[in-house]
Amino acid sequence: MPSPVPLPTSHVPDAEARLALAESLLACDAARPCAEAVVEWLVRHTQAGVAACLVREETGDRLMCLAARGLSEAQCDALEWEPDGGGHPLAEVLAHAAPRYFPAARAPLPALGNCFAVPLGRAGVPAVGLLLIPASGTALPPEVAWVAAHMGPTLTRLLPAGRRLDAGDGLLRRIIDAVADPVLLTDLDGRPRIANARAEALLVAGTDASEGRRRAVELNRRVFSTALASGASGGASGTRRREVPLVDPAEGMDLLFELISTPVHAPDGHEVMVSVLRNVTDLGRATQALGESYRRLRATEREARSERHRLDRVLDSVADPIILSDPSGGTVMLNGPAEKLFALPLDGGKAAQRRVRSNVATFSSFLANLVDGGAAPRWRGQLSLADPATGATIPVEAVASKVLGDHGELTGIVTLFHDRTEALEKARLLERVKEVSSQLEARVQVATAELAEQNEKLRRQAIQLEQASAAKSQFLANMSHEFRTPLNAILGYTNMLLQGVSGELSPPQKRNLTRIDSNGRHLLEVINEILDITRIEAGRMPLHLSDFGIPELLQEVVAELDPIIARSKLAVSTELGARLPPVHSDRQKVKQIVLNLLSNALKFTHEGSVTVLAEYVTATSTLAISVQDTGIGIDPAYQEKIFEDFQQVDSSPTRAYGGTGLGLSICRRLATMLGGRVTLQSVPGQGSTFTLHFPRRARRA
Ligand code: ADP
Repeated sequence: MPSPVPLPTSHVPDAEARLALAESLLACDAARPCAEAVVEWLVRHTQAGVAACLVREETGDRLMCLAARGLSEAQCDALEWEPDGGGHPLAEVLAHAAPRYFPAARAPLPALGNCFAVPLGRAGVPAVGLLLIPASGTALPPEVAWVAAHMGPTLTRLLPAGRRLDAGDGLLRRIIDAVADPVLLTDLDGRPRIANARAEALLVAGTDASEGRRRAVELNRRVFSTALASGASGGASGTRRREVPLVDPAEGMDLLFELISTPVHAPDGHEVMVSVLRNVTDLGRATQALGESYRRLRATEREARSERHRLDRVLDSVADPIILSDPSGGTVMLNGPAEKLFALPLDGGKAAQRRVRSNVATFSSFLANLVDGGAAPRWRGQLSLADPATGATIPVEAVASKVLGDHGELTGIVTLFHDRTEALEKARLLERVKEVSSQLEARVQVATAELAEQNEKLRRQAIQLEQASAAKSQFLANMSHEFRTPLNAILGYTNMLLQGVSGELSPPQKRNLTRIDSNGRHLLEVINEILDITRIEAGRMPLHLSDFGIPELLQEVVAELDPIIARSKLAVSTELGARLPPVHSDRQKVKQIVLNLLSNALKFTHEGSVTVLAEYVTATSTLAISVQDTGIGIDPAYQEKIFEDFQQVDSSPTRAYGGTGLGLSICRRLATMLGGRVTLQSVPGQGSTFTLHFPRRARRA
């Protein structure tokens, strides 16, 4: 309840004191502070020492002491009375609305002594209360009259609320003050008629209130009036509820109230509004905080859901199966590949379901190792799973990792499976390769040993062969020599006999001796050729290098074979290149080769021509001497073979051409010694061309 308006304690001129009281009364919005201000003022400015203000309660016309000075509580109570049909001196004052002097003997309260009762009211309206003040004389002091004149209208204005307010000293007042929530009765515009202490704290400012409090109260009243006039329509009882934001005038804090207002009819027939304000500031804050938490929760949930989707997509994009389990081993999530192995197929047969169950059991026992495995953060194992679709065994490596929370507690287990089929196949193949390679190595070792043995044998055989060949060459050289000596003697004596040294020979004798001579010469030729080969092989045919001219050499060769040429019907010619330089080589060996080639040409050509050509190839600094015939030619199958020892195209006993089959073999060996070679071009039935190529300047081997 607001405290009485403080008035100056020092003496003030009447005008100033009156002005101060008038301002206080104007500022009053309740009857009690108004009454207290007046009583206080009277006591101070009339030296009365005692003053009281009584008002008439609205119902029952009971007089109540609203404010008093210089009286005890019991004295105040004694002043209050119930109307009992009239006769009470104060009732008469009220009824006549005029001040009255009471001598001490008839005073309403003996303690007052002589006193005045001054009615309070407004012109034309019944007095609502009265002032009691001791009298020093029978004339009413002007200050008291002035106060009553000012206070009367104010009290009349405030008293509809003031009368109930006055009940505050009574039971009703104590009841509504005991209510924890602000409770007030207002007119329909929100002007308070009755307010309990808590409501007054919000909506009433005493005359002595600070500027801040006054503003806060003003604001609250405006907000309250607006809220009361507006808002949702009430229920059947007309009760309306709405939220009203008010300010705590004492501390300036924002408060939120639920305003529950119910219209009621006052006994005077006016409609008034009973309002209860329930402080829901904490509830509002709690609701706001709850809403905020809820929003945060939703945002977190959205984030978690999108994170979960992202995680799902990531996991599904991984080709290897992945399972997320809870700490007790229950499956929380599977990616696509894992579902194929561990999720029961909706349309799969019994076999597929059995395989899936078997996979799940295998995985569970694997996971139990990790869960029971103490502090180990990871567990790795080789599992054998079954493909639910085909039943094929899938060897996998499973790696399970614990997922720990902020405080190290186990929140989940992530298991990744890696198919080891390919790796195992590779390992198997590698093993097989190793096995085969070691077998191969063993075989190679055996073969190498055998080869080494064979090599050793061959080496020994080569040595033996070399020795045998050397022995053979030596033997042949010796034997040739041994053959040639008696053969030369035979040929000599045969020739002498044919010359007629032993007398004239008969034609048969001559024919036989000629045969002996012919065969002897053939034998000598064979022996010479064998001797040549053995000498070449034995390295006993050295090069004798000299400078000589090709034309002269060819001339000599043709001259030596002239008898044979003459006997044949062939046109033999020599064609020399434009600029044939002199050569530095073994003249005897060149001559022997050309002689042999020309002999063969004459032997295997029956008609046509034989031409000997010689030219110098500047680019290679070599000479080429060709013997070209129009003879029988050589089958391609024999063109290489005829250069080997004892090889002839026709080697039958009935062959048409004589010879040893050693001539070309010797030619090739001699050409090689000169640093050259012998080539052949031949067409059977058309002729052959043998060519000796050799460097212009031979090099000593
Ligand atoms: P020979 O003439 O003593 O048999 P060669 O070694 O000189 O031995 O010749 C080997 C063989 O080559 C001959 O038997 C012959 O069959 C063949 N031959 C050599 N020259 C000619 C040639 N100009 N025309 C045809 N055949 C030839």
